[in-house]
Amino acid sequence: MLSVFSLNSIFLLLIALLGAGVALWVYFSNPKARTNQLFLLFTIFNIFWIVFTYFSDITDVYSMASLAILYRNLAYGSVFLFLICTYFFVKFFTKKTETNVFLDTAVVFSGTTLLFISLFTNLIVKGVEPRNWGNYPIFGIGVYVAYPAIILLTILTLYLLIKNYFSLSGKNRIKTQYFILGICIFALGNFICNIILVPWWKNFPYYYLGNYSTFFLIGFTSYAIVKRKLFGIKIVLAILMVIFIAVLLLLDILILTQNATFQFFKLLLLVAFLNFGRILINNVLKEIEERKKLERLTKKMKNANLKLENANRKLKKIDQAKSEFLSIASHQLRTPLTVIKGYISMIREGFYGQMPEKTKIPLENVYISTEKLVNLINDFLNFSKLEAGKIELKIEESSIEEIITSLIGELKIEAERKNLKLSWEKPKNPLPKLLIDKDKIRQVFINLIDNAIKYTKEGSITIYAKHIILNSHKRDKVIIGVKDTGEGITKEDHSKIFESFSRGRAGTKLYTSGSGLGLYICKQFINMHHGRIWVESSGKYKGSTFYVELSV
Ligand code: ADP
Repeated sequence: MLSVFSLNSIFLLLIALLGAGVALWVYFSNPKARTNQLFLLFTIFNIFWIVFTYFSDITDVYSMASLAILYRNLAYGSVFLFLICTYFFVKFFTKKTETNVFLDTAVVFSGTTLLFISLFTNLIVKGVEPRNWGNYPIFGIGVYVAYPAIILLTILTLYLLIKNYFSLSGKNRIKTQYFILGICIFALGNFICNIILVPWWKNFPYYYLGNYSTFFLIGFTSYAIVKRKLFGIKIVLAILMVIFIAVLLLLDILILTQNATFQFFKLLLLVAFLNFGRILINNVLKEIEERKKLERLTKKMKNANLKLENANRKLKKIDQAKSEFLSIASHQLRTPLTVIKGYISMIREGFYGQMPEKTKIPLENVYISTEKLVNLINDFLNFSKLEAGKIELKIEESSIEEIITSLIGELKIEAERKNLKLSWEKPKNPLPKLLIDKDKIRQVFINLIDNAIKYTKEGSITIYAKHIILNSHKRDKVIIGVKDTGEGITKEDHSKIFESFSRGRAGTKLYTSGSGLGLYICKQFINMHHGRIWVESSGKYKGSTFYVELSV
């Protein structure tokens, strides 16, 4: 069977080899980083410390006492170098590299002085005494300086670490938490075993347990340096706790319990505990994952919102620029067009003498095109005014019949040109007069009849009106329908054709140069009159009827 002594040797050697491997791995993951360089150094000195202690333990005191003393002193020398490196490591690891000349010098000076004392004198360890577990050091007078110095350097490093820790945030903070955890376990292990137990309990057989604790320091720190994503420290503590209790239970079963039945029940308890620990840790992990997901989602949403806000702002600017451009361009175009239209009318009416027959049709075409342009520009102007909220109604008592009659006269030429029958079915009894803005309502019916002509290839366009008499509490209504036998309107188009710049199937097919503003303006104008406008159609190629309802 392995004795405690040889088991200890194997453990320490394993830790030394593992530590060296980890330190090199961390170093080569980024050899230029100061943190990685210092980590390599402090791990190496840490290993030296363990290895020299081990060598001192296995040296035969009777034949090579001075060698055993030298190893022990070398181990102390390594401790001082380790402490110097750790102090500077903390600075770089917590990214607070500013120099404090006094402290830095004090650390280097005291560390190196003690290093020389341990290397070249036997002031710290003056002898060794064989015990059944190794060689116990006999301390010299130097120990009264060495131990306080070790404690002071440790406190200083911890102070620096904790001070820097509170100014850190996010990933760096979690990384530092790992290092702090490692250093706490390490310092605690060494403090209890090497500083409290060894000097006072002369035959303390487990002093090497302090050395084992280095495993946590190297492990946690290397993990924190290399790993990009780290678990929160709470989960690590939970895992450590579970492991710690499991080890205690195991030791209890193996060492303290002699009775086989008890051992069996305690084993069951251990298994149950391990299972409980697994569930606990899994739940915590799940919760962490959920929280992270939520955080990620919130972050994404915030970003998306920000982008949307920006886009919105830009769009508003562009929109404003577009409205201004439309308004200016339309104003500039409308004046010359009105002049052109006026002259053509005068030529057609013979004001400049008899017009040759040949010229009549081309001139009619020019007139129609000009008319279309004027309508288009009016749409643009109305749109930009609507957008800017600059439209006001000039309400007066008007006859809707008169408006439509005059419009039919104007639009007849275009309908006849397309061989369409344009008829106005006046109601038998004259319609009541309405309080409306004549120009706006006129514009509405120009758009509706013009559309009916545009989107009808053959057949007819009929305009009719109805007076709907309601009871005395409600106002009467007038409904005017513009019915055509044209392209019809599909279901998808129903909802969108009244939006600005929105064109339907018929629009993109038959009249590519349209603006998609006509119906939008109609709707806005009718809304301003508190009326209603809608369309009914049985579908593609089945004609459509646009209705306008106004209160009397
Ligand atoms: P535009 O005629 O310039 O496209 P409008 O706002 O006047 O703009 O019309 C929007 C769309 O509604 C048109 O593109 C067309 O598809 C559809 N539409 C309007 N009137 C009719 C109609 N009488 N018959 C069939 N489709 C129509």
